[in-house]
Amino acid sequence: MKLLVTGAAGFIGANFVHYWVDKYPKDEIRVIDALTYAGNIENLAPVIKKIDFIEADINDRSKVAGAMKGVDAVIHFAAESHVDRSVFDPSRYWQTNVHGTVTLLEEAHKLGINRFHHISTDEVYGELPLLSDEKFSEKTPYAPRPDNLYALSKAEADKLVLEFYKKTDMYITISNCSNNYGPYQFPEKFIPIVVTNLIDGIQIPIHGDGRNVRDWIHTKDHANAIDLILQKGKKGETYLVGSNNDRDNNYIAEKMVSLYGEDPNTIRHVPDRHSNDRRYAIDATKIIQELGWKPEVDRDNFDDGLKETIDWYRDNQDWWRPLLKRRAVISDENKSVSAFITLNRETGKTKFIFGKLEAKEKITLPKNDLKEHFVEANIVRHEMVIKNLESKKWYQDSSDEIKDEIKALAMNPSTFGYAEDLSSHEEKIGKDTLLKLIKIEHAPNEYGIYGIGTWFVVENEKGDKRSEGYYSWGWGPKSGAKLLVLVRRNGEITHFAFQREGKFPTGSIEYNLAGGFPKLNESVLNFILRSLKKDLGLDVQKENITLNEIVSLGRVAPDSGMTNNHPNLYAVIVDFEDDVYPDVTEGVKFEENEGIVLWPISETSEIVSKCDDAYFLAAMARLDLSGIYTINLTEDRKD
Ligand code: NAD
Repeated sequence: MKLLVTGAAGFIGANFVHYWVDKYPKDEIRVIDALTYAGNIENLAPVIKKIDFIEADINDRSKVAGAMKGVDAVIHFAAESHVDRSVFDPSRYWQTNVHGTVTLLEEAHKLGINRFHHISTDEVYGELPLLSDEKFSEKTPYAPRPDNLYALSKAEADKLVLEFYKKTDMYITISNCSNNYGPYQFPEKFIPIVVTNLIDGIQIPIHGDGRNVRDWIHTKDHANAIDLILQKGKKGETYLVGSNNDRDNNYIAEKMVSLYGEDPNTIRHVPDRHSNDRRYAIDATKIIQELGWKPEVDRDNFDDGLKETIDWYRDNQDWWRPLLKRRAVISDENKSVSAFITLNRETGKTKFIFGKLEAKEKITLPKNDLKEHFVEANIVRHEMVIKNLESKKWYQDSSDEIKDEIKALAMNPSTFGYAEDLSSHEEKIGKDTLLKLIKIEHAPNEYGIYGIGTWFVVENEKGDKRSEGYYSWGWGPKSGAKLLVLVRRNGEITHFAFQREGKFPTGSIEYNLAGGFPKLNESVLNFILRSLKKDLGLDVQKENITLNEIVSLGRVAPDSGMTNNHPNLYAVIVDFEDDVYPDVTEGVKFEENEGIVLWPISETSEIVSKCDDAYFLAAMARLDLSGIYTINLTEDRKD
């Protein structure tokens, strides 16, 4: 058999290729992988001579078509898989996880490759209550709104894969798997952190109370499950894969410490990370009963899997040590920058390290043209929303006027979320069916739209019709978010300002940082002016202080669970002369400062490293991408 495996320079794909080469030495394996920062060719080193490796993006149609020539089956692992990174690069997640999957399906179909297996995750189902025995099964509905962009994009991909199956009748299967562990997992993930810290005598960090539950499966069992699905899975079917091994993080850490023969006091609790779902657990009855799958490592002999993993990390230090610090490329359309990712082993958190910032050519807004400047849309996402809407029966049956109105709202960044909500809405409310949308009401566009009333005609089980309204809140100044304010003096940006409050966790300190605003309109502009005056003492009505640049930093889909909104971020640049200086503290030792802090722009990397606030990190990355600054890595951080 000839297989094309996508994303096999990553953790699970690499383990799958090792498994396959070992079990079916006569088969031919071709790998396609873009070697993003998560891909590591070293993961394939032991088998590299036995496979054909093609470095390419799964969206590159001609390379994909070339790689697919003559293959019997495609096994699709490639994905952007790191939740925290989705804030920097939201469009990349859609590009790879959603569009990339469709590209592969279309090219496979064109070439007459019938067998396609798509790898997905249990995160598409959301989270389970902590104190329950509930488990996900194939019957569990997808979470209406997964709270991170990774899960959202995987759910969207799954939906498209199933649609593609219905359209083409190709032999397509999907598997949704729980948390994997085993060799070649990046050292920032939980089990590798525990073992690598044990090896180096560093205390083991547990995020939050450590009661978060994951259902742990060894990669070799995952590989074996995919093998069985490929051989015996029924077309169009989804299989959930998990080893009946739901355990909380405290259990894992204590068990590993004891297997390593270390003192339990080496474990310490550190502040939680954002979006730390409470519990995932999988009911794998279907794959066990229908395909005869049996994991080698399950609940009963989990110690063996852990011991084997500890040994692997002990014996393969040359593999993981270089990964404690590596370069990441952050890209946005045609611009890209690089930063170093390092792991803070004491807190178990990944940090993005930027070097000193240097002022570059400034962006100046054309006067009287603010509105135009602020109309922007995430094209990829917009397309998905329109496509989803068009697939809904109620939408098809609504009048052209209503459709035009929804499309217009989808074009406006401040109301895009509304159209997105509609597009992901179930076609039923309880047992009532939505028949069509008949009325939409909101404030006139020029005032900014913060709430929208919508009326559907619905039909109950008996066939009685009635009208049902629902009201959705849009974004607005009430989001509580702050602006990222850049302070420019004598033509040079010297500081940025933020307000510290006990709000967002950032390791040992807490502060309140940059946030998002909807499209600029009169009330938002007033709000900005009021905030500058109240918070920073900057009165832009005065002649010697001017606010003449407001830079859109793009839309952000936060993984932080702070809000359901996906706001646009804006940086406000205020110019003032030397004699006017806000009455605030310089933030060199910001741990000691309260309230408004002015932070020297040249020291940004320090604050970025200490912060895990999604909005702020996204704002800083976008600031660089927008061309106001270039992030230069300092000499000692170069490769
Ligand atoms: P990973 O991040 O370690 O590997 C992803 C690989 O895909 C990397 O080698 C990367 O270079 C490659 N890639 C990314 N974008 C690409 C593109 N545009 N074109 C070509 N290659 C690209 O991820 P992983 O943890 O091995 O996950 C693999 C798959 O399994 C993913 O689809 C993920 O959603 C799924 N999954 C993972 C887990 C888990 O516990 N890690 C659990 C369930 C499902």
